[in-house]
Amino acid sequence: MKQAKWLVIPAILVLFGWFWSVMSEDDEVRGFGGQFNLTSALSTEDMVPLNGQWMYYPNQLVGPQASVFGGFDVRLIDVPHSTKEYDFGTYQTDFNLPPDLVGELLSLYIPNLGHAYKVWINDELMVEEGKVDLDRASTIPAKRAHMLDFTSNERMVTLTIQVSNHYLRTGGLSQEILIGKHDEISRSFMLDRSLALIVCGSLIILFLYYIFSYLIQRKERYHLFFSLLVLIVIVRLLLEGDKLIFYFFPNFSWEWSMKLEYLSFIWLLPLFSYVISFMYPKQANTTFTRIYFIGVLAVSFVILLTPSYVYTHYLLLFQLTLVVGFVYIFKVVWQAYRANEAYSFINIIGLFVLLMTAANDVFYYNEWIATEPILSIGFLFYLFIQTVILAIQHGRTVEQYKQSSNELKALNTQLEEKVHARTAELKQSQKELVEKNRFLKKISYLDELTHIPNRRSFANVLEKDLAEAKQNNESISLMLIDLDLFKKINDQYGHQMGDACLKIFAELLNQHFSEHSHFVARYGGEEFVAICRGETLQAIEQSANNLRERVLKLKVPGVSQGELTISVGISYSENANITDNELFEQADAALYKAKDQGRNQVVVY
Ligand code: GH3
Ligand code: MG
Ligand code: MG
Repeated sequence: MKQAKWLVIPAILVLFGWFWSVMSEDDEVRGFGGQFNLTSALSTEDMVPLNGQWMYYPNQLVGPQASVFGGFDVRLIDVPHSTKEYDFGTYQTDFNLPPDLVGELLSLYIPNLGHAYKVWINDELMVEEGKVDLDRASTIPAKRAHMLDFTSNERMVTLTIQVSNHYLRTGGLSQEILIGKHDEISRSFMLDRSLALIVCGSLIILFLYYIFSYLIQRKERYHLFFSLLVLIVIVRLLLEGDKLIFYFFPNFSWEWSMKLEYLSFIWLLPLFSYVISFMYPKQANTTFTRIYFIGVLAVSFVILLTPSYVYTHYLLLFQLTLVVGFVYIFKVVWQAYRANEAYSFINIIGLFVLLMTAANDVFYYNEWIATEPILSIGFLFYLFIQTVILAIQHGRTVEQYKQSSNELKALNTQLEEKVHARTAELKQSQKELVEKNRFLKKISYLDELTHIPNRRSFANVLEKDLAEAKQNNESISLMLIDLDLFKKINDQYGHQMGDACLKIFAELLNQHFSEHSHFVARYGGEEFVAICRGETLQAIEQSANNLRERVLKLKVPGVSQGELTISVGISYSENANITDNELFEQADAALYKAKDQGRNQVVVY
């Protein structure tokens, strides 16, 4: 099944074969000896080409009466056929009409030969296109085709055409002259023009599409080359065959129309190579395209710098550049096909059609076949295929873009959710951390066993309180409180019991000193210390004795009441004019004295 698609190639070949065979079919009437008998042909056909033997007066410009006078060098020549040997000459033939067309309006179609021509029907001068003359200086080449209307009152009509070349490689009647009923000829004339204009219009739209695509997103150089390629095809279309350009711009220079025709011809393939290279960059060969480009540029100078009667001789060279381009393009597209690149098969088919139309034109211009130039139509076909491919690609890109943008959105939302979750987690752990910190800070200033401030807190508070008291000229006092013979308690009830005692005692201390808003801390072991500010010595002594009495009444489970006693040493400074060490040492000395005097008492230093 995969191979079946290749059947398209023979199908195309058959199609072109048929086209060529129809175009070169034997004419129904062939002129013979300068005579055409149209009696039967024109009664059945609407148009008849005057192909066959005409009389030819080489290098002579003679009038319609020449055959009557005689004495000229005259020979028979095949029409359509170009002459290389003669720069000018006169063609003449007689044809006889069917009786019913005598007196009817008929038309002759003289194509744009490029060469100047002058036409007589019988003795009447019908048209002179350009200026026919003996030398180049006075000859003006032709720009247009003509439809010549005439009626004949006799069946026999003499047609005389003078043609002078001087400007091109070959001269003479190289294309068909048509005769037919006026309506038919003008209809076909109109159809040809309309078709060309439709093709031209479609190409202009394509050109605009690509040039705007390029201007909008300048990165796509592919679009630029594509639009240039289309532009060249448009130029070609305006310049080949009947040269439409002269219908739009009658004053356009003939010489330039010729140069542009050839330039557009040789630039088609280099630009096309660039387009293909952009299409399949992996298979492209930039060195080749560059050399090719430069080569064609050099050839362009031949066309630009020499007159038409010089450069038209190099038609074969120009056609050769075409072949080179085609070989390259086919190679790239074939490699692309082998590499399974997108749209390479359809490209091969499009290219093949294009190649056949190009071959047609080459055969046509070399007069190997009598068809018509169709390369531009081939290009239109190819460009159309390309545009469809591009449109599909563009659609796919947009679709992919949409899809990935949706995916991106989803990812973004996911990410946002993750960030939210992480932020919440972070906040939570930060909160925990703060709490832990607070806790750590707290425990570093609290005594582990009794949960009242420890020695470190005491040192800080003492320093601060001493400074404040000094500043406010307040009194300050320290109470050192020591449990009496605590070792004994431990020994008697066990260490755990001792701990319980310490806890209960600390609770009492806390209660007692917070009543007076005084600070109390565990100094170490069974020794506690309180700071009292702004009190009289009397009040402090009173407070200490109160405490001592409360201890006596303290109920500790498992310890008999009154067994637990304290000794208290007090130091006091009226205006806080004392150091913390002095204050402590004095309290310690007082405590020592209290112990010494028998314990369970308060001593002031
Ligand atoms: P004094 O009246 O002379 O102060 O006699 P004391 O036995 O109380 O004094 P000493 O300094 O000789 O002994 C203190 C005892 O306190 C020693 C130790 O067993 C006890 N002690 C100190 N810290 C703790 C503690 O955290 N827990 C317990 N259970 N006992 C402690
Ligand atoms: Mg003690
Ligand atoms: Mg002690």
